[in-house]
Amino acid sequence: MLSKAERRFQADLLEWGEENRREYPWRESDRTLYEVFIAEFFLTQTPADNVAAVYPKFLERFPTLDEISKASEDELIEAIEPLGFQNMRAGALKQISSARDHLPTEPESLMELPRVGQYVANATLCFTGDDRLPVLDRNVERVYSRVFRDTWPETEADQLTFTQRLVPDEARAYNLALLDFGALVCQTEPLCERCFANEYCVYFQESA
Ligand code: SF4
Repeated sequence: MLSKAERRFQADLLEWGEENRREYPWRESDRTLYEVFIAEFFLTQTPADNVAAVYPKFLERFPTLDEISKASEDELIEAIEPLGFQNMRAGALKQISSARDHLPTEPESLMELPRVGQYVANATLCFTGDDRLPVLDRNVERVYSRVFRDTWPETEADQLTFTQRLVPDEARAYNLALLDFGALVCQTEPLCERCFANEYCVYFQESA
């Protein structure tokens, strides 16, 4: 059961997302599970614009997990060097591609892969299949901990439960909007004066 403010935020965010969605190559609607996974795997600790500069060429060279398994680790390192953490990323991709020819479709199974955490697993499945999963990174945590400052839990497990409740049936649209809202409006220095949530955001109300 959602509170009035939670329901309002959910609806407002979906509406905001329709008008403000950032376009990236991995957000195209016909992207496969593998293609979305590669993007989310690269986006961890790397700015989206850096990933966008490497992503199309990477997919052209390695269109499937099978192509990764056939490549040498050095080839992979060279392909992803501009992103940073290239040795770690190349090693993990090699391990994944040697062990399987397709990616699992359950978050728990994805999280068993090397260097794949809850965020990458949930984002991959939500952005591919519209799975109703919470997508919680540092930016999303900042948004929720401000808007719902009075009820935002302390532990990661409770935060995931809190976030899960808020994901509506339009999970993909909602989670993409949440990521964009954290990047464009509720930034480290938040743009509260032009924010749709400033009437009920606890952080803004308490600091006004
Ligand atoms: S009012 Fe300010 S702090 Fe609250 S959600 Fe909007 S931008 Fe973030």
